[in-house]
Amino acid sequence: MNLLIIGAGGVGRVATYKSGMNNHIFKKITLASRTKSKCDAIAREIKERLGVEIETAQIDAMDIDATARLIRESGSQVVLNVALPYQDLAIMDACLEAGAHYIDTANYEHPDEAKFEYKLQWAKDEEFKKRGLTALLGSGFDPGVTNVFTAYGAKYLLDEIEYLDILDCNAGDHGYPFATNFNPEINIREITQRGKYWENGKWVEVEPMSVKMEWDYPGVGKFPSYLLYHEELESLTKNFPSIKRARFFMTFSDKYLWHLRALQNVGMTSIEPIEICDGCQISPMEFLKKVLPDPASLGPRTKGETHIGVVVTGYKNGEKKRYYIYNICNHQCAFRETGAQCVSYTTGVPAMIGSKLVATGVYQEPGVKNLEEFDPMPFLYQLNSQGLPWFVQELPTDGLPIDRV
Ligand code: NDP
Repeated sequence: MNLLIIGAGGVGRVATYKSGMNNHIFKKITLASRTKSKCDAIAREIKERLGVEIETAQIDAMDIDATARLIRESGSQVVLNVALPYQDLAIMDACLEAGAHYIDTANYEHPDEAKFEYKLQWAKDEEFKKRGLTALLGSGFDPGVTNVFTAYGAKYLLDEIEYLDILDCNAGDHGYPFATNFNPEINIREITQRGKYWENGKWVEVEPMSVKMEWDYPGVGKFPSYLLYHEELESLTKNFPSIKRARFFMTFSDKYLWHLRALQNVGMTSIEPIEICDGCQISPMEFLKKVLPDPASLGPRTKGETHIGVVVTGYKNGEKKRYYIYNICNHQCAFRETGAQCVSYTTGVPAMIGSKLVATGVYQEPGVKNLEEFDPMPFLYQLNSQGLPWFVQELPTDGLPIDRV
C-alpha cells in the first residue's frame, strides 16, 4: 500500500520517520504540506539516517480537488492527516473523491469556533460506507491510545466500565518560561474552554481549571492535575454506554498557569480577529503563535518524560476492580530516534500504527470509526514493538485522589 501523509509539523515528522521504518508495509510514502521545504528537510534527514526514500509535494489541503489529484497522482490508498483539525473535513472529502482510506489524530474544528465535537465527521459515515472506505478518527495518543486502553479495559479486564479517568502528565522541562508542546492555537483553545465531564448520562460543565487533584504518576512523580474537556470523552461515552462517569485530567505547572492567565487577562488568547492597521486583521491567538517558541524547536531542549494513562473502574465476575493502563515516554529518547520530543512522538507513532492497521486490512471496515470500535489487541501489540510500551497496574477501588474530586 502507498501512504500519503499530509502535514509536516512535529507529528508529521514522527509519523513519516515511523512509516519509513515500516516500509515493508508502506511501499511508497509521500509527505505533503503547505510548505514543501519542511517536507524536503524531513525527507532528506530520513534518507540520510534510514536510507528510505520519501516523496514530497506541496498542497493546500483546504483545496479538495487538488488534494484528490495528489492522492491519485501519488497512487496512495491510505491518507494520514496530521495537518491541523481545520483540514479534517476537506481531506475526508478528498479521500472520498479519490477512493482512499482516511486517518487523523484530532477532531474537526472550525477556525472561528472551537467546538471539539465529532458530529460533522461522523455525518460522513454513510458516504464512506458507500465507497467501501474506512475513516479512522483520532489515532494519536489522546485521543488515540487512550481510546485503545479504554477498549482494552472494557473488553479484556472488566465485564464493563463504570468509571473512566484519563490522566495526562507532561513532566518534561524545555527551559522556556512559557511554550506549548504542540500547535499553540490548538493547545490553548483546548485548555481555556470550560471544563466538562460526563456523569449519569449528561455533560457537567465547570469553570476552566477549577477542579484540581494531585495524582502520583508511577515512574514520573506527583503532579497537580486539572479537569478539562477532551474530545475522546465524546466517542468513549457513546461507544461504552455502561460508563457512568468519564473525566480527563491534565497536569500544568504553576508557572505555565500564571503565564496563561496573564495572556488571557490581556486578551491574547482570543481567536476573534482584530484590526491592527488599515485593512490588516489578525487574531491575537494567531499573533501569539508567531511569537511563542515553535513546538518543533523544543525537541533538543526538552528533558524528562510524559506519562499518559487511563484508570478504569468496574466489575469483573461480580467483584469491583480498578486498573491503571499507562505509557511513559522519554523526551530525549524520542528526540534521538526521530528529532522530535514526546508530545509529537506519542502522537506520530500511533498515527503510523493506525495507518498500518488500516493499510493491512486489520482495521478496515467501511464507515467512519473511532479507534475503540476495533479490537484493541493488534494496536497494543504494535505499541510495544513501535516504541510506546504500556503497563497495567491493579489499583485500590476506593480512597484515591480521583475518588475525592
Ligand atoms: P504543527 O502546527 O507543528 O504542524 C501542522 C502542519 O500542518 C504544518 O506542517 C502545516 O504547514 C501543515 N498545514 C497547516 N495547514 C495546512 C493546509 N491548509 N494544507 C496543508 N498543510 C497544512 O502541528 P503538530 O504537528 O503539532 O500537530 C499535528 C496534528 O496533530 C494537529 O491536528 C494536532 O491537533 C494533532 N495532535 C494530536 C494529538 C493526539 O494525541 N491525538 C496530540 C498532539 C497533536 P506549515 O508548515 O505551512 O504551517
